Amino acid sequence: MRQGIAIALTAFFMTSSMSLVHAQEKVLNLYSARHYQTDEVLYSNFTKQTGIKINRIEADDNALFERIKNEGKNSPADVIVMVDAARIWRAEIEGFFQPVQSKILNARIPANLRGKDDGQGPEWFGFSTRARLIVYDKATVKPADVATYESLADPVNKGKVCTRSGSHPYNLSLIGSMIERDGEKATEQWAKGMVANFARPPRGGDTDQIKGVASGECGVAIANSYYYVRLLRSTKPEDIAAMKNVGFIWPNAQTSGTHFNIAGGGVAKNAPHREAAVKFLEYLASDEAQGYFAEGNNEWPAVAKVQVKNPALAALGKFKMENVSIASIGKNQIAAQRILDRVGYK
Ligand code: FE
Repeated sequence: MRQGIAIALTAFFMTSSMSLVHAQEKVLNLYSARHYQTDEVLYSNFTKQTGIKINRIEADDNALFERIKNEGKNSPADVIVMVDAARIWRAEIEGFFQPVQSKILNARIPANLRGKDDGQGPEWFGFSTRARLIVYDKATVKPADVATYESLADPVNKGKVCTRSGSHPYNLSLIGSMIERDGEKATEQWAKGMVANFARPPRGGDTDQIKGVASGECGVAIANSYYYVRLLRSTKPEDIAAMKNVGFIWPNAQTSGTHFNIAGGGVAKNAPHREAAVKFLEYLASDEAQGYFAEGNNEWPAVAKVQVKNPALAALGKFKMENVSIASIGKNQIAAQRILDRVGYK
């Protein structure tokens, strides 16, 4: 009887220590706010190359924040990926990440797309960029009337403007950059003008705004570049027909430059599989993964020398990026939300 227990216990410890070794080497817990089905290929290619299986927790940025905070020191998260600069910045301030010293990442990811480095390496890295575009109805709107984000609040655009919720991270970051550039007072005036110009109350995602322009319900809208390119590449006859009416603008091209955002991430503070986590970040910076951001999800690779094999994305051409630091966009989030609340930009 006793022997039986001993054997059973030995067997138990052997299996549990074996599965622990297994867990240390071959598993990665990824917390991701990316919401693009095409990313599946990224993850399966990483597993093929390294044998490391990815357990994925996908949720929007807010839900991930709550979860990581609640889990505290016991969080199983290894890598945290966010799709908005201000959220990445906030994750850094909250202490969600740990510094990473990687020659590969430092060589490939440009300095303006990395977290600050206090000597132990940056805590986060941007892996792709996206621009916040203005799209407009070619039949009813003059491009000169919608050349800047600021111009969308002009009376000439009354009854024409569509956006998703002002409080969505993509818009909060855009408004955060406007506060940095134009100041809080002017930005509040602008937000008031936007509300006065709405064709309809904010609803839906960026794709819905582009489709609103295509259907004629909206004259002009704001949308991330990859949603626009995705519709341009659509093979559905109704999308092809609809997109013929939709033009796009590089906002603020003649002034401050176009607002862009990043998707990026870092190694979680208490990552149980640190080595695998760094490997995964380095994989995201590889030619293969970088090319995939462009081909699969129509984003621009962070690694400048990677060639974009996506004719529709390449056809947009190059643009002047705004020069506002991610930290200042992050710091302006609360002021941006207060402005939205005051002017009723839901
Ligand atoms: Fe998105």
